[in-house]
Amino acid sequence: MSSDANTPVLRNCIRLPLPEEELLEVTAKAKDYAIMHGAAMRSKTAFSPDSLNFAPFVLVPSSFPRKEFEKAVALQPIINRLMHNVAHDEEFITTTLAETIKVDEFTANLFNIYRKVLAHGFTQKISLGMLRSDLMLESGCPELSPRALRTTAGEDAAADVGKGAGTAAAGTGRKEEEKEEQKEHRENQLSRATKERERRATGIQSAYCCWKQVEINTIASGFGHLGPASKTIQRFVLSELGHADKLHNMPNNNALAGLCDGMVKAWDIYAKPKAVILFIIEDVSYNICDQRFHEFYIRETYPHIKVLRRTLTDVHREGKLGLAKELLLGTQEVAVIYFRAGYEPGHYHSQAEWDARYLMETSLAIKCPSIHYHLAGTKKVQQALAQPAVLERFINDPEEIKAVGKIFTGLYSLDDNEAGNASYEMALRTPERFVLKPQREGGGNNVYGVDIPDALKRMSRVERSAWILMDLIHPPLTKGYMVRPGGDMPPQIVDMVSELGIFGVVIGDAEHIVHNYQAGHMLRTKLSTANEGGVAAGLGALDSPYLI
Ligand code: ADP
Ligand code: MG
Ligand code: MG
Repeated sequence: MSSDANTPVLRNCIRLPLPEEELLEVTAKAKDYAIMHGAAMRSKTAFSPDSLNFAPFVLVPSSFPRKEFEKAVALQPIINRLMHNVAHDEEFITTTLAETIKVDEFTANLFNIYRKVLAHGFTQKISLGMLRSDLMLESGCPELSPRALRTTAGEDAAADVGKGAGTAAAGTGRKEEEKEEQKEHRENQLSRATKERERRATGIQSAYCCWKQVEINTIASGFGHLGPASKTIQRFVLSELGHADKLHNMPNNNALAGLCDGMVKAWDIYAKPKAVILFIIEDVSYNICDQRFHEFYIRETYPHIKVLRRTLTDVHREGKLGLAKELLLGTQEVAVIYFRAGYEPGHYHSQAEWDARYLMETSLAIKCPSIHYHLAGTKKVQQALAQPAVLERFINDPEEIKAVGKIFTGLYSLDDNEAGNASYEMALRTPERFVLKPQREGGGNNVYGVDIPDALKRMSRVERSAWILMDLIHPPLTKGYMVRPGGDMPPQIVDMVSELGIFGVVIGDAEHIVHNYQAGHMLRTKLSTANEGGVAAGLGALDSPYLI
Protein backbone atom coordinates (compact mmCIF):
# COMPACT_ATOMS: atom_id res chain seq x y z
CA MET A 1 0.00 0.00 0.00
CA SER A 2 1.37 3.41 -0.83
CA SER A 3 1.93 5.62 2.15
CA ASP A 4 5.03 7.73 2.56
CA ALA A 5 6.52 10.47 4.72
CA ASN A 6 4.02 12.95 3.23
CA THR A 7 0.96 10.93 4.20
CA PRO A 8 -1.00 12.93 6.77
CA VAL A 9 -1.43 11.48 10.24
CA LEU A 10 -4.70 11.90 12.12
CA ARG A 11 -4.45 13.12 15.70
CA ASN A 12 -4.87 10.36 18.31
CA CYS A 13 -7.79 10.41 20.71
CA ILE A 14 -5.39 10.03 23.66
CA ARG A 15 -1.67 10.57 24.17
CA LEU A 16 0.44 7.56 23.12
CA PRO A 17 2.61 5.66 23.92
CA LEU A 18 1.14 4.39 27.17
CA PRO A 19 3.52 3.56 30.00
CA GLU A 20 4.50 -0.11 29.58
CA GLU A 21 2.97 -1.37 32.80
CA GLU A 22 -0.36 0.33 32.12
CA LEU A 23 -0.31 -0.94 28.54
CA LEU A 24 0.31 -4.54 29.60
CA GLU A 25 -2.47 -4.43 32.15
CA VAL A 26 -5.10 -2.82 29.96
CA THR A 27 -4.26 -5.04 26.97
CA ALA A 28 -4.65 -8.23 29.01
CA LYS A 29 -7.99 -7.00 30.34
CA ALA A 30 -9.15 -5.93 26.89
CA LYS A 31 -8.37 -9.38 25.45
CA ASP A 32 -10.54 -11.02 28.07
CA TYR A 33 -13.19 -8.37 27.60
CA ALA A 34 -13.23 -9.11 23.85
CA ILE A 35 -13.63 -12.88 24.27
CA MET A 36 -16.26 -12.47 26.96
CA HIS A 37 -18.30 -10.06 24.81
CA GLY A 38 -18.16 -12.17 21.68
CA ALA A 39 -15.62 -10.08 19.76
CA ALA A 40 -14.20 -13.41 18.71
CA MET A 41 -13.67 -15.92 15.93
CA ARG A 42 -12.83 -19.56 15.46
CA SER A 43 -9.12 -20.11 14.94
CA LYS A 44 -8.10 -20.99 11.39
CA THR A 45 -4.78 -22.48 12.49
CA ALA A 46 -6.10 -24.48 15.44
CA PHE A 47 -9.76 -24.89 14.56
CA SER A 48 -12.10 -26.31 17.11
CA PRO A 49 -15.89 -25.96 17.14
CA ASP A 50 -15.58 -25.79 20.94
CA SER A 51 -13.40 -22.71 21.32
CA LEU A 52 -12.97 -19.12 20.26
CA ASN A 53 -10.06 -16.68 19.93
CA PHE A 54 -10.60 -12.97 20.39
CA ALA A 55 -10.69 -11.18 17.02
CA PRO A 56 -7.72 -8.85 16.40
CA PHE A 57 -8.59 -5.34 17.58
CA VAL A 58 -7.13 -1.86 17.83
CA LEU A 59 -6.74 -0.89 21.47
CA VAL A 60 -8.06 2.66 21.33
CA PRO A 61 -10.47 3.97 18.69
CA SER A 62 -9.02 5.47 15.51
CA SER A 63 -9.81 9.08 14.74
CA PHE A 64 -12.18 9.83 11.91
CA PRO A 65 -13.34 13.27 10.76
CA ARG A 66 -16.80 13.88 12.15
CA LYS A 67 -18.07 15.74 9.11
CA GLU A 68 -17.13 12.94 6.76
CA PHE A 69 -18.66 10.33 9.06
CA GLU A 70 -21.90 12.27 9.26
CA LYS A 71 -21.98 12.74 5.50
CA ALA A 72 -21.56 9.00 4.99
CA VAL A 73 -24.36 8.19 7.42
CA ALA A 74 -26.68 10.75 5.83
CA LEU A 75 -25.98 9.47 2.33
CA GLN A 76 -26.74 5.82 3.10
CA PRO A 77 -30.52 5.89 2.43
CA ILE A 78 -29.78 7.49 -0.94
CA ILE A 79 -27.27 4.74 -1.72
CA ASN A 80 -29.84 2.16 -0.59
CA ARG A 81 -32.39 3.57 -3.02
CA LEU A 82 -29.79 3.78 -5.78
CA MET A 83 -28.86 0.11 -5.38
CA HIS A 84 -32.51 -0.92 -5.15
CA ASN A 85 -33.23 0.86 -8.43
CA VAL A 86 -30.13 -0.57 -10.08
CA ALA A 87 -31.09 -4.09 -9.01
CA HIS A 88 -34.48 -3.66 -10.66
CA ASP A 89 -33.13 -2.31 -13.95
CA GLU A 90 -32.94 -5.40 -16.14
CA GLU A 91 -31.56 -3.56 -19.13
CA PHE A 92 -28.78 -1.88 -17.16
CA ILE A 93 -27.67 -5.08 -15.43
CA THR A 94 -27.77 -7.05 -18.67
CA THR A 95 -25.82 -4.51 -20.72
CA THR A 96 -23.31 -3.78 -17.98
CA LEU A 97 -22.44 -7.43 -17.41
CA ALA A 98 -22.65 -8.51 -21.07
CA GLU A 99 -18.89 -8.62 -21.71
CA THR A 100 -17.97 -9.80 -18.21
CA ILE A 101 -20.15 -12.91 -18.31
CA LYS A 102 -18.51 -14.04 -21.54
CA VAL A 103 -15.30 -14.68 -19.62
CA ASP A 104 -16.16 -14.84 -15.92
CA GLU A 105 -17.77 -18.20 -15.27
CA PHE A 106 -18.91 -17.43 -11.73
CA THR A 107 -20.70 -14.21 -12.67
CA ALA A 108 -22.10 -16.03 -15.72
CA ASN A 109 -23.58 -18.73 -13.46
CA LEU A 110 -25.24 -16.06 -11.30
CA PHE A 111 -26.45 -14.30 -14.41
CA ASN A 112 -27.93 -17.55 -15.78
CA ILE A 113 -30.01 -17.90 -12.65
CA TYR A 114 -31.14 -14.29 -13.13
CA ARG A 115 -32.04 -14.99 -16.76
CA LYS A 116 -34.04 -18.10 -15.88
CA VAL A 117 -35.88 -16.32 -13.08
CA LEU A 118 -36.68 -13.42 -15.41
CA ALA A 119 -38.05 -15.82 -17.99
CA HIS A 120 -40.46 -17.40 -15.49
CA GLY A 121 -41.30 -14.21 -13.60
CA PHE A 122 -40.31 -13.49 -10.00
CA THR A 123 -42.32 -15.60 -7.53
CA GLN A 124 -41.38 -13.18 -4.74
CA LYS A 125 -41.31 -9.57 -5.86
CA ILE A 126 -40.03 -8.18 -2.56
CA SER A 127 -36.27 -8.06 -1.93
CA LEU A 128 -34.43 -7.52 1.31
CA GLY A 129 -31.26 -5.51 0.82
CA MET A 130 -28.77 -5.44 3.70
CA LEU A 131 -25.98 -3.41 2.18
CA ARG A 132 -22.64 -2.22 3.40
CA SER A 133 -21.07 0.72 1.65
CA ASP A 134 -17.32 0.66 2.32
CA LEU A 135 -15.24 3.79 2.17
CA MET A 136 -11.83 5.21 2.88
CA LEU A 137 -10.69 8.75 3.45
CA GLU A 138 -8.71 10.26 0.62
CA SER A 139 -5.96 12.52 1.94
CA GLY A 140 -6.03 15.99 0.51
CA CYS A 141 -8.64 15.42 -2.14
CA PRO A 142 -10.19 18.48 -3.71
CA GLU A 143 -13.96 18.37 -3.75
CA LEU A 144 -14.83 17.41 -7.28
CA SER A 145 -18.33 17.87 -8.55
CA PRO A 146 -19.88 15.36 -10.93
CA ARG A 147 -19.92 18.18 -13.46
CA ALA A 148 -16.16 18.45 -13.27
CA LEU A 149 -15.98 14.70 -13.70
CA ARG A 150 -18.15 14.85 -16.72
CA THR A 151 -16.72 17.72 -18.67
CA THR A 152 -13.03 17.05 -18.43
CA ALA A 153 -11.16 14.43 -20.39
CA GLY A 154 -9.81 11.15 -19.03
CA GLU A 155 -6.36 10.85 -17.64
CA ASP A 156 -5.32 14.42 -18.26
CA ALA A 157 -8.29 15.63 -16.30
CA ALA A 158 -7.13 13.55 -13.37
CA ALA A 159 -3.78 15.29 -13.46
CA ASP A 160 -5.46 18.64 -13.87
CA VAL A 161 -7.96 18.70 -11.08
CA GLY A 162 -6.58 16.08 -8.75
CA LYS A 163 -6.96 12.38 -8.03
CA GLY A 164 -10.26 10.83 -8.88
CA ALA A 165 -11.38 12.73 -11.93
CA GLY A 166 -10.61 9.88 -14.24
CA THR A 167 -14.15 8.64 -14.78
CA ALA A 168 -14.54 11.27 -17.45
CA ALA A 169 -14.97 10.19 -21.01
CA ALA A 170 -14.42 12.60 -23.87
CA GLY A 171 -15.56 16.08 -22.83
CA THR A 172 -18.44 17.95 -24.42
CA GLY A 173 -16.43 21.15 -24.50
CA ARG A 174 -19.56 23.26 -24.13
CA LYS A 175 -18.67 26.81 -23.13
CA GLU A 176 -21.23 27.13 -20.35
CA GLU A 177 -20.19 23.94 -18.69
CA GLU A 178 -16.56 24.99 -18.90
CA LYS A 179 -17.35 28.28 -17.18
CA GLU A 180 -19.30 26.48 -14.53
CA GLU A 181 -16.46 24.07 -14.06
CA GLN A 182 -13.90 26.87 -13.68
CA LYS A 183 -16.13 28.47 -11.08
CA GLU A 184 -16.36 25.22 -9.15
CA HIS A 185 -12.62 24.75 -9.42
CA ARG A 186 -12.06 28.23 -7.92
CA GLU A 187 -14.52 27.42 -5.16
CA ASN A 188 -12.65 24.21 -4.44
CA GLN A 189 -9.42 26.11 -4.15
CA LEU A 190 -11.04 28.61 -1.82
CA SER A 191 -12.45 25.84 0.34
CA ARG A 192 -9.04 24.21 0.44
CA ALA A 193 -7.57 27.49 1.68
CA THR A 194 -10.25 27.66 4.37
CA LYS A 195 -9.52 24.08 5.32
CA GLU A 196 -5.82 24.80 5.54
CA ARG A 197 -6.52 27.71 7.93
CA GLU A 198 -8.79 25.44 9.94
CA ARG A 199 -6.08 22.79 10.07
CA ARG A 200 -3.47 25.27 11.31
CA ALA A 201 -5.85 26.57 13.94
CA THR A 202 -6.91 23.18 15.30
CA GLY A 203 -3.94 20.97 14.52
CA ILE A 204 -6.40 18.51 12.97
CA GLN A 205 -5.30 17.25 9.62
CA SER A 206 -8.66 15.75 8.87
CA ALA A 207 -9.85 18.92 7.21
CA TYR A 208 -8.01 17.73 4.14
CA CYS A 209 -9.76 14.39 3.85
CA CYS A 210 -12.93 13.46 2.10
CA TRP A 211 -14.20 9.94 1.75
CA LYS A 212 -14.37 7.81 -1.36
CA GLN A 213 -16.30 4.61 -1.89
CA VAL A 214 -14.20 1.44 -1.95
CA GLU A 215 -17.11 -0.81 -2.89
CA ILE A 216 -20.66 -1.61 -2.03
CA ASN A 217 -21.59 -5.05 -0.74
CA THR A 218 -25.03 -6.50 -1.40
CA ILE A 219 -24.34 -10.04 -0.17
CA ALA A 220 -23.14 -11.29 3.24
CA SER A 221 -22.30 -7.79 4.51
CA GLY A 222 -20.61 -8.82 7.74
CA PHE A 223 -19.70 -7.12 11.05
CA GLY A 224 -23.20 -6.23 12.15
CA HIS A 225 -22.20 -7.66 15.51
CA LEU A 226 -18.44 -7.10 15.45
CA GLY A 227 -18.90 -3.42 14.53
CA PRO A 228 -20.75 -2.52 17.74
CA ALA A 229 -18.64 -5.05 19.73
CA SER A 230 -15.48 -3.14 18.73
CA LYS A 231 -16.92 0.00 20.23
CA THR A 232 -17.70 -1.85 23.44
CA ILE A 233 -14.09 -3.00 23.85
CA GLN A 234 -12.65 0.41 23.11
CA ARG A 235 -15.14 2.16 25.38
CA PHE A 236 -13.99 -0.15 28.15
CA VAL A 237 -10.32 0.57 27.38
CA LEU A 238 -10.79 4.35 27.31
CA SER A 239 -12.62 4.19 30.63
CA GLU A 240 -9.89 1.99 32.14
CA LEU A 241 -7.32 4.54 31.02
CA GLY A 242 -9.20 7.36 32.73
CA HIS A 243 -10.71 8.93 29.61
CA ALA A 244 -14.41 8.35 30.24
CA ASP A 245 -14.91 12.04 29.37
CA LYS A 246 -14.07 11.21 25.74
CA LEU A 247 -16.64 8.48 25.22
CA HIS A 248 -19.21 10.86 23.74
CA ASN A 249 -17.04 11.12 20.63
CA MET A 250 -17.70 7.47 19.81
CA PRO A 251 -20.92 7.44 17.80
CA ASN A 252 -23.82 5.11 18.64
CA ASN A 253 -23.77 1.91 16.70
CA ASN A 254 -26.92 -0.20 16.49
CA ALA A 255 -25.86 -2.26 13.51
CA LEU A 256 -26.89 -5.62 14.96
CA ALA A 257 -30.38 -4.47 15.86
CA GLY A 258 -30.77 -2.54 12.61
CA LEU A 259 -29.87 -5.51 10.43
CA CYS A 260 -31.83 -8.10 12.42
CA ASP A 261 -34.87 -5.82 12.50
CA GLY A 262 -34.55 -5.69 8.71
CA MET A 263 -34.86 -9.48 8.56
CA VAL A 264 -37.82 -9.37 10.91
CA LYS A 265 -39.55 -6.67 8.83
CA ALA A 266 -39.19 -8.96 5.81
CA TRP A 267 -40.50 -11.85 7.91
CA ASP A 268 -43.54 -9.68 8.82
CA ILE A 269 -44.19 -8.96 5.15
CA TYR A 270 -44.15 -12.70 4.43
CA ALA A 271 -46.89 -12.96 7.06
CA LYS A 272 -46.82 -16.65 8.05
CA PRO A 273 -46.43 -16.96 11.83
CA LYS A 274 -44.80 -20.39 11.68
CA ALA A 275 -42.32 -19.64 8.90
CA VAL A 276 -38.61 -19.46 9.78
CA ILE A 277 -35.60 -17.33 8.86
CA LEU A 278 -32.89 -19.35 7.11
CA PHE A 279 -29.19 -18.42 7.26
CA ILE A 280 -27.16 -19.87 4.37
CA ILE A 281 -23.74 -20.60 5.79
CA GLU A 282 -20.34 -21.86 4.70
CA ASP A 283 -19.25 -25.44 5.49
CA VAL A 284 -17.13 -23.98 8.30
CA SER A 285 -17.99 -20.59 9.81
CA TYR A 286 -14.84 -19.04 11.25
CA ASN A 287 -16.60 -15.71 11.75
CA ILE A 288 -19.19 -17.47 13.90
CA CYS A 289 -19.93 -14.69 16.42
CA ASP A 290 -20.92 -12.35 13.61
CA GLN A 291 -23.67 -14.83 12.66
CA ARG A 292 -24.73 -16.31 15.98
CA PHE A 293 -25.28 -12.90 17.56
CA HIS A 294 -27.74 -12.14 14.75
CA GLU A 295 -29.50 -15.41 15.44
CA PHE A 296 -29.51 -14.85 19.21
CA TYR A 297 -30.73 -11.24 18.83
CA ILE A 298 -33.67 -12.41 16.73
CA ARG A 299 -34.46 -15.27 19.13
CA GLU A 300 -34.24 -13.06 22.20
CA THR A 301 -36.11 -10.07 20.78
CA TYR A 302 -38.73 -12.03 18.82
CA PRO A 303 -38.98 -15.42 20.60
CA HIS A 304 -41.65 -16.67 18.21
CA ILE A 305 -39.29 -16.49 15.18
CA LYS A 306 -37.04 -19.46 14.63
CA VAL A 307 -33.69 -19.27 12.84
CA LEU A 308 -32.21 -22.21 10.93
CA ARG A 309 -28.66 -22.53 9.59
CA ARG A 310 -27.99 -24.58 6.44
CA THR A 311 -25.26 -24.82 3.80
CA LEU A 312 -26.11 -24.70 0.10
CA THR A 313 -25.43 -28.44 0.04
CA ASP A 314 -27.97 -28.98 2.87
CA VAL A 315 -30.59 -26.98 0.98
CA HIS A 316 -30.01 -29.11 -2.09
CA ARG A 317 -30.59 -32.23 0.00
CA GLU A 318 -33.51 -31.05 2.12
CA GLY A 319 -35.20 -28.27 0.18
CA LYS A 320 -38.24 -28.43 -2.05
CA LEU A 321 -40.99 -26.14 -3.22
CA GLY A 322 -44.57 -26.41 -1.99
CA LEU A 323 -47.71 -25.82 -4.01
CA ALA A 324 -47.47 -22.06 -3.77
CA LYS A 325 -43.70 -22.27 -4.42
CA GLU A 326 -42.98 -21.79 -0.73
CA LEU A 327 -39.51 -23.04 0.22
CA LEU A 328 -39.80 -26.05 2.51
CA LEU A 329 -37.00 -27.60 4.53
CA GLY A 330 -38.64 -30.80 5.65
CA THR A 331 -41.95 -29.46 6.93
CA GLN A 332 -40.65 -26.02 7.85
CA GLU A 333 -41.58 -23.12 5.61
CA VAL A 334 -38.92 -20.47 5.04
CA ALA A 335 -39.99 -16.82 5.06
CA VAL A 336 -36.60 -15.10 4.72
CA ILE A 337 -33.24 -16.33 3.41
CA TYR A 338 -30.12 -14.52 4.62
CA PHE A 339 -27.05 -15.47 2.60
CA ARG A 340 -23.80 -15.49 4.56
CA ALA A 341 -22.35 -17.77 1.87
CA GLY A 342 -22.80 -18.13 -1.86
CA TYR A 343 -20.67 -15.14 -2.84
CA GLU A 344 -17.59 -17.03 -4.04
CA PRO A 345 -16.97 -19.96 -6.38
CA GLY A 346 -15.60 -22.11 -3.53
CA HIS A 347 -19.06 -22.16 -1.91
CA TYR A 348 -20.45 -24.08 -4.89
CA HIS A 349 -18.81 -27.52 -4.75
CA SER A 350 -20.84 -28.94 -7.62
CA GLN A 351 -24.00 -28.36 -9.64
CA ALA A 352 -25.95 -29.33 -6.50
CA GLU A 353 -25.18 -25.99 -4.82
CA TRP A 354 -26.10 -24.04 -7.97
CA ASP A 355 -29.36 -25.98 -8.12
CA ALA A 356 -30.02 -25.08 -4.48
CA ARG A 357 -29.41 -21.40 -5.23
CA TYR A 358 -31.81 -21.58 -8.17
CA LEU A 359 -34.43 -23.38 -6.08
CA MET A 360 -34.29 -20.61 -3.48
CA GLU A 361 -34.43 -17.91 -6.16
CA THR A 362 -37.60 -19.38 -7.66
CA SER A 363 -39.23 -19.76 -4.25
CA LEU A 364 -41.62 -17.46 -2.44
CA ALA A 365 -39.10 -16.76 0.32
CA ILE A 366 -37.75 -13.19 0.59
CA LYS A 367 -34.06 -13.31 -0.24
CA CYS A 368 -31.21 -11.22 1.13
CA PRO A 369 -29.98 -10.78 -1.48
CA SER A 370 -32.19 -11.82 -4.35
CA ILE A 371 -30.19 -12.63 -7.47
CA HIS A 372 -30.61 -9.18 -9.05
CA TYR A 373 -29.36 -7.55 -5.83
CA HIS A 374 -26.35 -9.86 -5.88
CA LEU A 375 -25.54 -8.85 -9.47
CA ALA A 376 -26.06 -5.15 -8.65
CA GLY A 377 -23.25 -5.47 -6.10
CA THR A 378 -20.61 -6.57 -8.62
CA LYS A 379 -17.56 -4.39 -9.13
CA LYS A 380 -18.49 -4.10 -12.80
CA VAL A 381 -21.80 -2.46 -11.89
CA GLN A 382 -20.01 -0.10 -9.47
CA GLN A 383 -17.66 0.89 -12.29
CA ALA A 384 -20.58 1.49 -14.66
CA LEU A 385 -22.38 3.64 -12.07
CA ALA A 386 -19.38 5.94 -11.80
CA GLN A 387 -19.50 6.78 -15.51
CA PRO A 388 -20.74 10.19 -16.60
CA ALA A 389 -24.50 10.72 -16.58
CA VAL A 390 -25.34 7.17 -15.40
CA LEU A 391 -26.61 8.19 -11.95
CA GLU A 392 -29.34 10.27 -13.63
CA ARG A 393 -30.92 7.00 -14.68
CA PHE A 394 -31.50 5.98 -11.05
CA ILE A 395 -31.74 9.17 -9.01
CA ASN A 396 -34.02 12.12 -9.78
CA ASP A 397 -32.82 14.80 -7.38
CA PRO A 398 -29.84 16.77 -8.80
CA GLU A 399 -28.48 17.43 -5.29
CA GLU A 400 -28.49 13.71 -4.55
CA ILE A 401 -26.80 12.97 -7.87
CA LYS A 402 -24.12 15.48 -6.97
CA ALA A 403 -23.62 14.02 -3.50
CA VAL A 404 -23.32 10.45 -4.77
CA GLY A 405 -21.11 11.48 -7.70
CA LYS A 406 -18.58 12.89 -5.25
CA ILE A 407 -17.97 9.57 -3.55
CA PHE A 408 -16.64 7.83 -6.65
CA THR A 409 -12.97 7.74 -7.31
CA GLY A 410 -11.78 6.89 -10.84
CA LEU A 411 -13.23 3.57 -12.02
CA TYR A 412 -12.37 2.26 -15.47
CA SER A 413 -13.72 -0.49 -17.70
CA LEU A 414 -11.28 -2.95 -19.22
CA ASP A 415 -13.78 -4.22 -21.81
CA ASP A 416 -12.43 -4.90 -25.27
CA ASN A 417 -13.36 -1.56 -26.83
CA GLU A 418 -11.78 1.85 -27.30
CA ALA A 419 -12.30 3.08 -23.73
CA GLY A 420 -11.26 -0.27 -22.25
CA ASN A 421 -8.12 -0.42 -24.33
CA ALA A 422 -7.23 3.14 -23.28
CA SER A 423 -7.60 2.12 -19.61
CA TYR A 424 -5.41 -0.89 -20.27
CA GLU A 425 -2.65 1.31 -21.72
CA MET A 426 -3.02 3.74 -18.81
CA ALA A 427 -2.62 0.87 -16.31
CA LEU A 428 0.56 -0.30 -18.02
CA ARG A 429 1.98 3.24 -18.02
CA THR A 430 1.20 4.20 -14.41
CA PRO A 431 0.27 1.01 -12.52
CA GLU A 432 1.18 2.54 -9.15
CA ARG A 433 -1.98 4.66 -9.38
CA PHE A 434 -4.35 1.70 -9.49
CA VAL A 435 -5.92 -1.42 -8.05
CA LEU A 436 -7.21 -4.12 -10.41
CA LYS A 437 -10.36 -5.95 -9.29
CA PRO A 438 -12.18 -9.07 -10.47
CA GLN A 439 -15.89 -9.82 -9.83
CA ARG A 440 -15.26 -11.44 -6.47
CA GLU A 441 -16.09 -10.84 -2.82
CA GLY A 442 -14.51 -11.69 0.48
CA GLY A 443 -11.08 -10.09 0.06
CA GLY A 444 -7.75 -11.29 -1.26
CA ASN A 445 -8.68 -11.18 -4.95
CA ASN A 446 -7.30 -7.81 -6.09
CA VAL A 447 -4.00 -6.95 -7.78
CA TYR A 448 -2.18 -3.82 -6.65
CA GLY A 449 0.15 -1.25 -8.25
CA VAL A 450 3.33 -2.64 -9.75
CA ASP A 451 1.86 -6.16 -9.97
CA ILE A 452 -0.84 -4.98 -12.37
CA PRO A 453 1.11 -5.00 -15.70
CA ASP A 454 2.15 -8.65 -15.35
CA ALA A 455 -1.37 -9.68 -14.37
CA LEU A 456 -2.89 -7.79 -17.31
CA LYS A 457 -0.37 -9.10 -19.81
CA ARG A 458 -1.23 -12.67 -18.85
CA MET A 459 -4.87 -12.05 -19.90
CA SER A 460 -6.31 -12.07 -23.39
CA ARG A 461 -8.16 -8.94 -24.55
CA VAL A 462 -11.52 -10.52 -23.76
CA GLU A 463 -10.40 -11.88 -20.39
CA ARG A 464 -9.70 -8.36 -19.22
CA SER A 465 -13.43 -7.57 -19.27
CA ALA A 466 -13.83 -9.75 -16.17
CA TRP A 467 -11.85 -7.06 -14.30
CA ILE A 468 -12.13 -3.36 -13.55
CA LEU A 469 -9.46 -0.82 -12.79
CA MET A 470 -9.80 1.64 -9.92
CA ASP A 471 -7.79 4.60 -8.65
CA LEU A 472 -6.02 3.75 -5.41
CA ILE A 473 -7.32 5.74 -2.46
CA HIS A 474 -4.62 7.18 -0.17
CA PRO A 475 -5.99 7.29 3.36
CA PRO A 476 -4.34 9.25 6.17
CA LEU A 477 -2.50 7.27 8.83
CA THR A 478 -3.40 6.68 12.42
CA LYS A 479 -0.92 5.43 15.00
CA GLY A 480 -1.93 2.92 17.61
CA TYR A 481 -1.68 -0.54 19.14
CA MET A 482 -3.00 -3.54 17.23
CA VAL A 483 -3.72 -6.51 19.49
CA ARG A 484 -3.73 -10.02 17.94
CA PRO A 485 -4.03 -13.51 19.37
CA GLY A 486 -0.46 -14.70 19.90
CA GLY A 487 0.88 -11.22 19.08
CA ASP A 488 3.58 -9.16 20.85
CA MET A 489 2.98 -8.31 24.52
CA PRO A 490 3.04 -5.45 25.05
CA PRO A 491 1.89 -4.51 21.54
CA GLN A 492 3.97 -2.01 19.57
CA ILE A 493 2.74 1.26 18.09
CA VAL A 494 2.17 0.80 14.36
CA ASP A 495 1.04 2.91 11.40
CA MET A 496 -2.47 2.00 10.33
CA VAL A 497 -5.21 2.92 7.88
CA SER A 498 -8.95 2.38 8.26
CA GLU A 499 -11.94 1.46 6.13
CA LEU A 500 -15.40 2.48 7.32
CA GLY A 501 -18.48 0.47 6.37
CA ILE A 502 -21.97 1.96 6.64
CA PHE A 503 -24.84 -0.50 6.78
CA GLY A 504 -28.14 0.10 5.05
CA VAL A 505 -31.42 -1.79 4.95
CA VAL A 506 -33.84 -1.46 2.07
CA ILE A 507 -36.96 -3.52 1.46
CA GLY A 508 -39.31 -3.28 -1.49
CA ASP A 509 -40.20 -4.38 -4.98
CA ALA A 510 -39.68 -2.82 -8.41
CA GLU A 511 -42.39 -0.20 -7.80
CA HIS A 512 -42.19 0.61 -4.09
CA ILE A 513 -39.67 0.85 -1.31
CA VAL A 514 -41.37 0.03 2.00
CA HIS A 515 -38.37 0.37 4.36
CA ASN A 516 -35.16 2.29 3.83
CA TYR A 517 -32.76 3.22 6.62
CA GLN A 518 -29.14 3.50 7.64
CA ALA A 519 -28.27 0.73 10.09
CA GLY A 520 -25.04 1.43 11.94
CA HIS A 521 -21.43 1.08 10.91
CA MET A 522 -18.17 -0.87 11.28
CA LEU A 523 -14.55 0.18 11.11
CA ARG A 524 -11.72 -2.13 10.07
CA THR A 525 -8.13 -1.08 10.40
CA LYS A 526 -5.01 -2.60 8.86
CA LEU A 527 -1.29 -1.95 8.89
CA SER A 528 -0.51 0.86 6.47
CA THR A 529 1.80 -1.51 4.61
CA ALA A 530 -0.92 -4.11 3.91
CA ASN A 531 -2.91 -4.05 0.68
CA GLU A 532 -6.00 -5.59 2.21
CA GLY A 533 -7.41 -5.70 5.68
CA GLY A 534 -9.86 -8.57 6.08
CA VAL A 535 -10.27 -9.33 9.79
CA ALA A 536 -11.39 -12.92 9.15
CA ALA A 537 -8.41 -13.26 6.77
CA GLY A 538 -6.12 -12.22 9.66
CA LEU A 539 -4.91 -8.96 8.13
CA GLY A 540 -7.14 -6.39 9.69
CA ALA A 541 -8.38 -5.53 13.13
CA LEU A 542 -11.67 -4.47 14.67
CA ASP A 543 -11.87 -0.78 15.34
CA SER A 544 -14.44 1.96 15.74
CA PRO A 545 -14.42 5.62 14.90
CA TYR A 546 -13.48 8.39 17.33
CA LEU A 547 -14.96 11.51 15.77
CA ILE A 548 -12.70 14.56 15.59
P1 ADP B 1 -13.91 -7.33 -1.60
O1 ADP B 1 -15.28 -7.35 -2.16
O2 ADP B 1 -13.15 -8.57 -1.87
O3 ADP B 1 -13.89 -6.92 -0.16
P2 ADP B 1 -12.77 -4.69 -2.11
O4 ADP B 1 -13.07 -3.89 -3.33
O5 ADP B 1 -13.39 -4.24 -0.87
O6 ADP B 1 -13.14 -6.21 -2.44
O7 ADP B 1 -11.21 -4.75 -1.93
C1 ADP B 1 -10.63 -5.41 -0.83
C2 ADP B 1 -9.73 -4.47 -0.05
O8 ADP B 1 -8.76 -3.87 -0.92
C3 ADP B 1 -10.43 -3.30 0.61
O9 ADP B 1 -10.97 -3.67 1.85
C4 ADP B 1 -9.31 -2.28 0.73
O10 ADP B 1 -8.50 -2.58 1.86
C5 ADP B 1 -8.49 -2.55 -0.53
N1 ADP B 1 -8.92 -1.64 -1.62
C6 ADP B 1 -9.90 -1.87 -2.50
N2 ADP B 1 -10.05 -0.83 -3.35
C7 ADP B 1 -9.15 0.09 -2.99
C8 ADP B 1 -8.80 1.38 -3.48
N3 ADP B 1 -9.42 1.91 -4.53
N4 ADP B 1 -7.81 2.05 -2.85
C9 ADP B 1 -7.16 1.51 -1.79
N5 ADP B 1 -7.44 0.29 -1.29
C10 ADP B 1 -8.42 -0.42 -1.87
MG1 MG C 1 -17.09 -6.86 -1.18
MG1 MG D 1 -14.51 -5.14 0.60
